[in-house]
Amino acid sequence: MPPSHNNHGEAEGLIRGDPRDPACAGPDLQLQLLDIPLGPRPADGPGPGEGYTILVGLMAPYSRGTVRLDGPDPSTPPLIDPRYYADHHDVDLMVTGLRAARAVGEAPALGLWRGEEALPGPETADDERLGAYLRQDPHTYGHYAGTCALGTDTDAGAVVDTELRVRGVDGLRVADASVMPTVVSASTGATVFALGERAADLLRRDTSPAHDG
Ligand SMILES: Cc1cc2nc3c(=O)[nH]c(=O)nc-3n(C[C@H](O)[C@H](O)[C@H](O)COP(=O)(O)OP(=O)(O)OC[C@H]3O[C@@H](n4cnc5c(N)ncnc54)[C@H](O)[C@@H]3O)c2cc1C
Repeated sequence: MPPSHNNHGEAEGLIRGDPRDPACAGPDLQLQLLDIPLGPRPADGPGPGEGYTILVGLMAPYSRGTVRLDGPDPSTPPLIDPRYYADHHDVDLMVTGLRAARAVGEAPALGLWRGEEALPGPETADDERLGAYLRQDPHTYGHYAGTCALGTDTDAGAVVDTELRVRGVDGLRVADASVMPTVVSASTGATVFALGERAADLLRRDTSPAHDG
């Protein structure tokens, strides 16, 4: 493989695969072009031979996972179940995304570099087969969020209030991706920075001499 001068994933596209989805106002799918071929398990690194990869990711999944305690001992690892594709909407949308990725991959502009489609392969053509391929081995972009959601007093499930204070515990704030009440339809990093800035403002306000409560 030739030496790389970038991180292999410089070209991205955010698209809307389900324009009628009332739950998502922004893009719901992300495509990312990598200048290397990934194998069936991207985490294992490059696949054999030469090629390019177009990754598809859900930006506003309907499926919801869980993080639960496994007992009273805080050193016991939590029980994490991401429940990928628990909601069929997500599979249908990913099928749309795979078709979009295929269209990009087959575009004339990439003709110079194109051979045969390796994964999932041209025989994986109808929705059922594409859905089965997707369910076989789902992966994540690492954009976990919302395990400790913020909300108002009337939100029964809210763990922290709108000033990031853990309800029922004095002197404890949370300022990370876990407080997002919904999944943002974007990569999560910028929102986490904004949460950190907000937490800094709140702490500055609460510790300033002028603050009376
Ligand atoms: C592989 C990968 C690629 C990503 N790429 C992008 C991207 O390109 N763009 C983008 O916007 N987002 C990206 N994200 C998502 C983004 O990185 C996360 O949403 C963001 O970092 C989450 O911030 P956080 O503060 O909630 O958690 P983290 O950034 O995970 O911070 C948690 C911190 O807590 C520390 N910690 C854990 N346990 C303890 C403990 N017991 N005591 C003390 N410290 C502890 C950890 O060491 C860590 O520093 C990516 C995520 C991954 C995994």
